[in-house]
Amino acid sequence: MTGEVRTVFRGGIVHCVDASTTQLLEDGVLGLDQSNRIVFVEDGSQLALLQDRYGFAADARTIQLKPHQFLMPGFIDTHIHASQYPNAGTGLDMPLLQWLETYTFPTEAMFANPEFAQNAYEKVVQRTLRSGTTACSYFTTIHREASTTLVETCERLGQRAYVGKVCMDRNSPSTYIEVTNESIRETEAFVQATLARNSELVTPIVTPRFVPTCSSQLMTGLGEVARRYNVPIQSHVSENAGEIEWVRQLHPQCSSYSDVYDVHGLLNSKAIMAHGVHLSEAEMQLLSARKVGVSHCPCSNYGILSGICRVRDLHQHNVKVGLGTDVSGGHSPAMLESLRLALIASKTVHFQEPALAPLRLYEGLHLATLGGAEVMGLQDQIGNFAPGKHFDALIVDPSSIDSPIDVFAKDKFSDRVEKFLFNGDDRNIVTVFVNGKVVKRLASAPALTADF
Ligand SMILES: [Zn+2]
Repeated sequence: MTGEVRTVFRGGIVHCVDASTTQLLEDGVLGLDQSNRIVFVEDGSQLALLQDRYGFAADARTIQLKPHQFLMPGFIDTHIHASQYPNAGTGLDMPLLQWLETYTFPTEAMFANPEFAQNAYEKVVQRTLRSGTTACSYFTTIHREASTTLVETCERLGQRAYVGKVCMDRNSPSTYIEVTNESIRETEAFVQATLARNSELVTPIVTPRFVPTCSSQLMTGLGEVARRYNVPIQSHVSENAGEIEWVRQLHPQCSSYSDVYDVHGLLNSKAIMAHGVHLSEAEMQLLSARKVGVSHCPCSNYGILSGICRVRDLHQHNVKVGLGTDVSGGHSPAMLESLRLALIASKTVHFQEPALAPLRLYEGLHLATLGGAEVMGLQDQIGNFAPGKHFDALIVDPSSIDSPIDVFAKDKFSDRVEKFLFNGDDRNIVTVFVNGKVVKRLASAPALTADF
C-alpha cells in the first residue's frame, strides 16, 4: 500500500503500461511515498488536482528534471552469467558446445579462487548498474562460497538480483564438475543461507546449467529444492541445433527438450528458460501451459551462432518474454544493446516469415522492462511506474556531458527517447535508483533531496 506523498519528480516520463501501451509524458509528475514507493504518475497539468487528492502541497519536495531529461524504469536482465563477465567481448568465434569447452568452463573454474570471484563480481555488478540494469537474474558457478560473494556484492552495491549457484554433474571437465548429491546439498545450503539474510534485494534461484550437464537425478533433486523453498528456477532450453540433438540422444524417451525439464519437475510459473530459439509448436504450448518465462538473448544468439528466437510467435502462444544479455555468449552487458538486437532479430525473422511482424520500438522497451519483470515473476514489484511498485528507475539525459547523441530544436520528446534507445549509452544514464536508493549519479544529474 502507498501512503503520504513525500517526493515528486517533474519532467519527461516514459514507461510501458502493458505489452502494447506506452505512456509518454513530456511534462509528467511522479509521486513517491515515504518508503519511496510509487503513488502516482500523471501529466503535469494534473498537479493541482493531485495535490488536493493526496494533500502534499506543503510537504512534498519537488525534484525538477533538467531540459531534455526523462525518467524511465530500470532495465531488467533476465539472463546473465556473472561468472563469464571476465570474457565479455571475447571468444565469439565458435558455436555453443565448443565455446563452452574452449572459453567458458576454464574461466568459470577460476571462481574457486575467492579473490578472483570477488574482483569479477564487483566489476559485473558495477558495470550493469552503470548501464542502467536495476535487476538481474544471475548464473554464478558451481562454487557456493563465490556465489555468496555475488549475493553480498549485489546487496552492498544496491542491485536487485536473483543469484543462482550453477549445478552440473555430467559431461563436464574433470576440473569443473560436481557429484550429484553434493550439488543438491550445496544448492539447498545456498538457498537456505540466502533466504536467511531476509534481503530486500537478493533472492536465490535454483540453477541446473542445462540438460546435457545435469543427470536425471540432479534435475529431480533440484526441482524438489525449488518446491520446498518456493524459489525460482533458471536454465537454458533449445538454444542450438547441436545441443538439441545431444539432448534428444540423452533422453530419447522425452518428446522434446522442454519435455525433459517438465518430466523432472522444473517447469512452473517461477521458471526462466533462456533462448528458446528452436522451440517446436508443442514446446511453445507446453511453456505457455506451465507459465514459464523465456529470456530472449539476441546478442548471444547471433554471437555464438545459435539462431533467432521468434518472439512474436512466443507472444502469440501467450508465453512471457523478457530480454537477457547472456554475457558472455552475448558480447555486451548493456541491455540497450540487447534491446537493439532484439529489434533487428525480429526483422530477420520477418524476412523469413512475413506473417510474423517485426517488433516495434516500444515492444522492445517492454521486453527490456515490464516483460522482464513478468519473466522474473516481479511484475507486481517492478518493471514500470504503476502505483505501489518500487522505484527502480533511471534519469536519462540525451544532452548529458559527453553524450553520444545530438539533440536538435526540431526533436519532439518521443524523438529524444528514441534517440536514446537507439544511440544512447551509459553516459546518458545520469542517475540510477534501485528500491528508491541512488546507486549511480553523474555530474549532469538533477539535484536530489536528502531522502535519496
Ligand atoms: Zn546462458
